[in-house]
Amino acid sequence: SIKVRSLSKWFGSWRALQGVSVDIEGGACTVLCGPSGSGKSTFLRCLNGLEEWQTGEIEIGGIAVGDQPRALTRLRRDVGMVFQSFNLFPHLSVLDNVTLAPRRLLHRRRKDAEEQAMRLLQRVGVARQADKLPAGLSGGQKQRVAIARALAMEPKVLLFDEPTSALDPESVKEVLDVMIELAKGGTTMVVVTHEMGFARRVASRVLFMDKGRIVETAEPEAFFTCPCSERAKSFLADIG
Ligand code: ATP
Ligand code: MG
Repeated sequence: SIKVRSLSKWFGSWRALQGVSVDIEGGACTVLCGPSGSGKSTFLRCLNGLEEWQTGEIEIGGIAVGDQPRALTRLRRDVGMVFQSFNLFPHLSVLDNVTLAPRRLLHRRRKDAEEQAMRLLQRVGVARQADKLPAGLSGGQKQRVAIARALAMEPKVLLFDEPTSALDPESVKEVLDVMIELAKGGTTMVVVTHEMGFARRVASRVLFMDKGRIVETAEPEAFFTCPCSERAKSFLADIG
């Protein structure tokens, strides 16, 4: 599980996170939504140590996330991230993209890392693309490789920042199907998405963020049928 207490983050004089406190359940899928600029990406980036914050505490799986370098290395290993823009290494094959971090950071032997990578690529349905460069893949295939790459580190938590927003409708489905399988398998996931069908189907909780705060925490059914805040109502009407 993830515990966040009074998390605040400034960019210069701009306060992007205004004292976020939330408990995120382990083994479940949590969807984070909210208007553009509300702080969703900033929050995710704090959770995996890509962003420094000024005040507050984050605890992941019982371990406090501090600013000591060792804690940060540990954090990056325990928390996987999947981005909207895939961020695959363009000069490496699909297989090498997946094996790089386990070999470098977990000191896996090449053969073991490759066997594990092939299993993961199989699981997300892109094993046949293993020897290709990312440029030769469709958007949906790239994103599924990115998911396999994150899984290869066997993270405790997987964060997704709008993983389907850069994809065509067919690819969206391919990627969501993989995410649905992961969620059903009990992976701890925090997903920033506007795919409300996905949220309804697999999220155990929906967090709604506005102006740097989490202003609603609800079960999906309750959130979608009767959001409490006016802000959430108008957000849902807009994306409806
Ligand atoms: P979107 O839905 O558009 O992705 P978001 O909810 O992810 O939005 P963030 O990207 O977290 O929002 O941004 C929150 C606020 O912090 C915004 O006002 C943004 O302009 C500001 N911000 C984000 N990153 C930086 C940065 N590196 N420097 C300065 N301001 C930033
Ligand atoms: Mg964002």
